[in-house]
Amino acid sequence: MKIIARPPAFQYKKNHLLADSVPLAYLAERYGTPLYVYSASTIRDRYRTFENAFKRFPHTVCYSVKANSNLSLLKMLAKLGSGFDVVSGGELERVLHVSRKAAEKVVFSGVGKTAAEIDAALKANILIFNVESESELDLLAERAAKIKKKARIALRINPDVFADTHPYISTGLREHKFGVALSDVGDLYTRAAARKYLDVAGVSCHIGSQITTVEPFAKAMLRIAELVRALAANGHNIRYVDAGGGLGISYKSEDAEADNFEAKSSAYAHALHDSLGGLKVHLLLEPGRSIVAPAGALLSRVVVTKQNGKKRFVIVDAAMNDLLRPSLYGAYHEIVPVQLNQVLQMTKATSVVDVVGPVCETGDFFARDRELPHLHEGDLVAILDAGAYGMALSSNYNTRPRAAEVMVDGSGVTVVRKRETMKDLFRQET
Ligand SMILES: *Cc1c(COP(=O)(O)O)cnc(C)c1O
Repeated sequence: MKIIARPPAFQYKKNHLLADSVPLAYLAERYGTPLYVYSASTIRDRYRTFENAFKRFPHTVCYSVKANSNLSLLKMLAKLGSGFDVVSGGELERVLHVSRKAAEKVVFSGVGKTAAEIDAALKANILIFNVESESELDLLAERAAKIKKKARIALRINPDVFADTHPYISTGLREHKFGVALSDVGDLYTRAAARKYLDVAGVSCHIGSQITTVEPFAKAMLRIAELVRALAANGHNIRYVDAGGGLGISYKSEDAEADNFEAKSSAYAHALHDSLGGLKVHLLLEPGRSIVAPAGALLSRVVVTKQNGKKRFVIVDAAMNDLLRPSLYGAYHEIVPVQLNQVLQMTKATSVVDVVGPVCETGDFFARDRELPHLHEGDLVAILDAGAYGMALSSNYNTRPRAAEVMVDGSGVTVVRKRETMKDLFRQET
């Protein structure tokens, strides 16, 4: 059995799994488990690679905060010049907290923006609002008029394209709650242009997440380009096209090994650009997962192993409250041992197991019927590709304090979120 991790963020050296150059076994000893571990160098590399793929086109990368909203991570991306895509007032607060200046590169998406969230974004002078309905358009016009501040807007189009991803994270079909149907959008642009405090500046779309081919993006962009031309013909001054996020990663090791993020980003950039067919617009990009997912792992320790009838269970100290993706989407995450025993590897000592957490739900699992090297009580495992939608989706279910998060950078380690205590959990309760 071939075991590979996720170089350069996570790789084996002399049978020990390292994050950059720090052994995960050391991190587990020092900071406890479950523990989120991120590689700063990998995040920076992936951001730069993505950014570089678009260098020939006028553009701004607006990292999607919801993928991983840790303040240190946001600060690091802000320093690299990243803008941000936010979907709530809370995410906007996070961005403003790490960099007031980043506000000028903030894109505000989301189907249910409240008046308070809109006011906060107006006050912060964000780059653009992606408006998703007629009601939101009216509300935004009203709030902007009230404080006499012009709001730059794009309408989020629902391009009605199918993307082959999990139904929960596909967003670009007519029946989804997101955006405005192409058939209705002309009237909305006319309505928007008539409002004194709205600056009609763009068109946006986001068709979903974990999309692994460029075709759906290209198809959506063709429809957007056509719309931009029609809007221009009607006298609208469309300067921005927001292509959303959604670029997928390979969660299976055999695919991840063959992945080349540079080539993927470049193919994506060219597909978008070709579809726009020479339109003179500023591209906005909202990648989340593709920047941070492979840069993170969830480190966990085996608590108990047990045999129930024919099934062998490996029960680890992380659970669905720490990493929800397998439970929520049936998502696949590679699980690798932290200490590789060469002898075991050579003798192919593997077993087929379910790796599960201790939470009282049958849906609390990380892997089912997975062939893994023999794991014993006390062994450490790393659940890979957990940098995106991992900690961000965590909860306190079963009164489990949330995991700590550490950022590794070369040989340096920084705790970027402390492990929660029972006191933290009780704080708001009476
Ligand atoms: C979630 C989201 C993104 C990021 O998607 P990824 O798949 O993580 O790249 C971008 N834009 C919007 C509007 C989103 O909702």
